[in-house]
Amino acid sequence: MTFKSEYLAKVYDDVCKRNPNEPEFLQAVGEVLESLEPVVERRPDIVAAGIIDRIVEPERGIQFRVSWVDDEGKVRVNRGYRYQFNSAIGPHKGGIRLHPSVNASVIKFLGFEQIFKNSLTGLPIGGGKGGSDFDPKGKSDGEVMRFCQSFMTELCKHIGADTDVPAGDIGTGAREIGYMFGQYKRIRNEFTGVLTGKSISYGGSLARKEATGYGLLYFTKEMLADKGIDIAGKRIIVSGSGNVAIYAAQKATQLGGKVIAMSDSSGYIHDEDGVNLDVIKKIKEVDRARISEYVKSVPTATFTPGCKGIWTIKADVALPCATQNEIDEESAKALIANGVIAVAEGANMPSTPEAVAAFQSAGVLFGPAKAANAGGVATSALEMSQNSMRLSWTFDEVDAKLHDIMVNIYKNCSKTAREFGLEDNLVAGANIAGFLKVADAMLWQGVAY
Ligand code: NDP
Repeated sequence: MTFKSEYLAKVYDDVCKRNPNEPEFLQAVGEVLESLEPVVERRPDIVAAGIIDRIVEPERGIQFRVSWVDDEGKVRVNRGYRYQFNSAIGPHKGGIRLHPSVNASVIKFLGFEQIFKNSLTGLPIGGGKGGSDFDPKGKSDGEVMRFCQSFMTELCKHIGADTDVPAGDIGTGAREIGYMFGQYKRIRNEFTGVLTGKSISYGGSLARKEATGYGLLYFTKEMLADKGIDIAGKRIIVSGSGNVAIYAAQKATQLGGKVIAMSDSSGYIHDEDGVNLDVIKKIKEVDRARISEYVKSVPTATFTPGCKGIWTIKADVALPCATQNEIDEESAKALIANGVIAVAEGANMPSTPEAVAAFQSAGVLFGPAKAANAGGVATSALEMSQNSMRLSWTFDEVDAKLHDIMVNIYKNCSKTAREFGLEDNLVAGANIAGFLKVADAMLWQGVAY
């Protein structure tokens, strides 16, 4: 990583020394610092106050043992994490990831990105992230419940409706949030909006389940419309088939696009007639099965093992909605060769830095995760508002607010990129706009932490 600014080079060097063996975290920090070159030139007050030196260091991080008993009576041990990165503009907010690949580096990259994403929503939420290397796949409901209860037994000491409000992420859906909420209530004896992504029956928000995917499409539609392109009729690839992917595909279809491929960690399906989402929902949300089952219901579709091949399908729009670094340079070049017009990130950091550079130099419209997938956390913040007011908005009310938030995020990123002489670079626009609001709040609050 090379920087023009000596100051940024030194900050990045210090981060590398302090966080060795954390490649995902260093990748996320490097990308943001790169975007901040013009800010460092224009804002000596930010440099003098050590804002960038401080923002790369989490306010607090905890790691804890999570022991639980499986269905055979055997004791199992996992590792839990919560990184509370920044609370300058509101309580820490960010999901809980349950996946075997979780480690400190992954949680720190996600927590760091969350600071800027949450800032972009315009809502009062700080950044944080948590998780565990527990794998819910193949576990019984009882096992998942015992794990979640044990996880929350420790986590409840560190979170609260005005302190830190976790939500879902990979492996954490309404089932896991429910078990965690129940345990929090049991231990703390209080019914508060301490988690979002709750089921509707006990304080969840309508449209939260759909929000990240829908928001991604509101952003993508705006990004295309700004260049005079209509999303209707476009061929769209959506990777993943979890929460974000399913509702991205649903909104893409409602807007007149044609989703022709989806995937899970075992492979991808290709359906030129347009993916049948009822079949996908049954496989993924009801049966918790593998995506290969799709071809049993839709024999004209094909299933191919392995994840990378999905990016070799000819499409106009690519929406990576599975996991980090799923599009490398080779995949980006395959998409470009096939004439892709736009890429918008539903997952967090799904494109490697080389892939992002390839898209940008080929003139592909590129919506970075911090901006494009912010609809989930924005709607989580709307869930917090409803919980505080002890009332519920209708689906349409929440969806309309989500739509406006996503359009504003696009406009803010685009305008900021232009103001800093980086027209059409939404990566820089998102990083700078997200950063400046938090930096300003930190300046007002002094060197308190
Ligand atoms: P889910 O657990 O619901 O779905 C994840 C999907 O991605 C599944 O299809 C899963 O396949 C696939 N996947 C996971 N890991 C890998 C891997 N290593 N290789 C290939 N495929 C993989 O998670 P979400 O939909 O909630 O999250 C998806 C992404 O979106 C993540 O990056 C998350 O951080 C991000 N995000 C989520 C938000 C939300 O509101 N949920 C908000 C903002 C961002 P399989 O079933 O085989 O594991």
